[in-house]
Amino acid sequence: MASMPDPWRISLHGGHSGEFCEHAQGTLRSVVEAAVAAGYQTFGLSEHAPRGQERFLYDTEREKGFTTGRLREDFDAYVTEARALAEEFSDRIEILVGFESEVVPATDYAEEMLGLRDSYSLDYMVGSVHHVGETPIDGSIDEFHRVVKESGGLEELAIRYYDAVAEMVERLQPEVVGHLDLVRRHAPLDADLETIRIRTAAQRALESVESVGAILDLNTAGWRKGLGDPYPRPWLVQRADQIGIGFCFGDDSHNSSQVGSGIDQARDYLIELGVTSIRSLNRSNGNVTVRTVPLI
Ligand SMILES: [Zn+2]
Ligand SMILES: [Zn+2]
Repeated sequence: MASMPDPWRISLHGGHSGEFCEHAQGTLRSVVEAAVAAGYQTFGLSEHAPRGQERFLYDTEREKGFTTGRLREDFDAYVTEARALAEEFSDRIEILVGFESEVVPATDYAEEMLGLRDSYSLDYMVGSVHHVGETPIDGSIDEFHRVVKESGGLEELAIRYYDAVAEMVERLQPEVVGHLDLVRRHAPLDADLETIRIRTAAQRALESVESVGAILDLNTAGWRKGLGDPYPRPWLVQRADQIGIGFCFGDDSHNSSQVGSGIDQARDYLIELGVTSIRSLNRSNGNVTVRTVPLI
């Protein structure tokens, strides 16, 4: 158990569980119990939005016989269970019940995501881009190589990716933008993903984030995946900070042992880059509002 409550110990991206997500492990209850043990003040659950078409099922889901109907049922059960746990644990931790977006199908995703949000009256949305041109960028390495090839190289992929982020932010206006430089996920560690053209595309994405008032997820999964830095890298943190974009932490947990992982380092990382506060979302009187929380 964490002893001292830290006001900044907040995660707004994560809380996936094996109960409701094929590539996560354990029950949602075990994840929430871990969040209490980690000393979180507020813990946002952001289960993946169900993908509505069979062609977007992951190979691992297909192997287990998952269908789009199953994804939809699991999401429905997730919202019910998450709300019950939020109530049960409300004297120990604030649980927000949100979801993480997809950008597939390319033409209709906004309608689907905004419809999902409205139909469940979810607390908030993490806007994430996991696909470029409908091919996953953070799935298998083969899929990544395919999307690099389809794009005409890594630099072109990165530009398409940041363009997709800008479009997603404008169409969905999410409260939180997830893992801003996820395009690094499968790229070689020595690849140059900071060329002038990539920086220009990323700058446009940041301007979109700023224009809708979204918060950037300082996502600790980058460390767990061996990338050396969290998402996003320092240059993006500094550019975002310069134009007044706020940050939140996201442990992107997919099981109870990942809950809280990297949050202390993430705080140090932001402070070293000159960021001295984060933003939090909190529920009050049925509304979710943004609050600034000092890091030091
Ligand atoms: Zn996931
Ligand atoms: Zn994600």
